[in-house]
Amino acid sequence: MRGTVLYGPRDVRFEERPDPTIIEPTDAIIRIAATCVCGSDLWPYRGIAPITQPQAMGHEYCGIVEEVGSAVKHITPSQFVVGSFATSDNTCPTCQFGYQSSCVQREFMGGAQAPLLRMPLADGTLVTTPGIPADDLIPSLLTTSDVLGTGWFAADAANVKPGSTIVVVGDGAVGLLGVLSAKQMGTERIIAMSRHEPRQQLAREFGATDIVTERGDEGIVRIMDLTDGVGADSVLECVGTQEAMMQAIRATRKGGYVSYVGVPHEVELNGEELFFAHVHLHGGPAPVRRYLPELIDLVWNRTINPGKVFDLTLPLDRVAEGYRAMDERRAIKVLLCP
Ligand SMILES: [Zn+2]
Repeated sequence: MRGTVLYGPRDVRFEERPDPTIIEPTDAIIRIAATCVCGSDLWPYRGIAPITQPQAMGHEYCGIVEEVGSAVKHITPSQFVVGSFATSDNTCPTCQFGYQSSCVQREFMGGAQAPLLRMPLADGTLVTTPGIPADDLIPSLLTTSDVLGTGWFAADAANVKPGSTIVVVGDGAVGLLGVLSAKQMGTERIIAMSRHEPRQQLAREFGATDIVTERGDEGIVRIMDLTDGVGADSVLECVGTQEAMMQAIRATRKGGYVSYVGVPHEVELNGEELFFAHVHLHGGPAPVRRYLPELIDLVWNRTINPGKVFDLTLPLDRVAEGYRAMDERRAIKVLLCP
């Protein structure tokens, strides 16, 4: 088969690779129905997260099980499955607490931007759909694998509930789906911070009631104006930069909640400022596995349509074009079809 490999900054190749095979008895092989480019793929693509050797890319996936190892009990060939970007046994104490993305057996997935994928810990990581999905459901099912699961965790970790006023920092696909998640959780006031017209429009479609275009200190002043000088109950930080993190903490009311789901790059917090900020902080790699059954259900019943974040679809062999489009912010999120 051919698969996606990153060799260095802005050097993505779609090249011949060995077909994946069962290595551990707990593995499965999946034939990918759709995959995509993640915002976090852009960190190594831009050379901000350096790589030392060619890296098989892609960690968002859904598709049909082709083969399972001898120890796999609950997943069987020809089922349609979705799994998290992090593998989990779903049985260790950390998994039992609902933090499967920190499972003692966790591996971060790679190699999903290809027609076939080896899936470790298949029983604990994969969730089956009620049947083979209609084609138009596949993009939305794919989002549950990471980007929706992460937006949902951002809202959950920030204690979003009916009646809260929330702010979303970041208008990437995760931020936009954080808006959708908060709306689904019953929030009425959702302030999205975005300077890009098409993203503002999608944020409104997903449930945002206010848009703030200012950033940094000016952005915080605007949030304070919109919340009668109090700050928001919940702020979802969906970027991972110092500016975004400080914007989130400073826009939150005393006793409020900040979640952070963007992979941090050179973020440093000042202890004294944190002390006086008086906020709850909760974040990390989203435990997508915890939410998958519920999110698959919401998509399957067509209650939500998170697949709208894909504004560019390309055949898998044009994956390099997909990276370019996201890097240049010409596309919100790129869907890749084998
Ligand atoms: Zn575990």
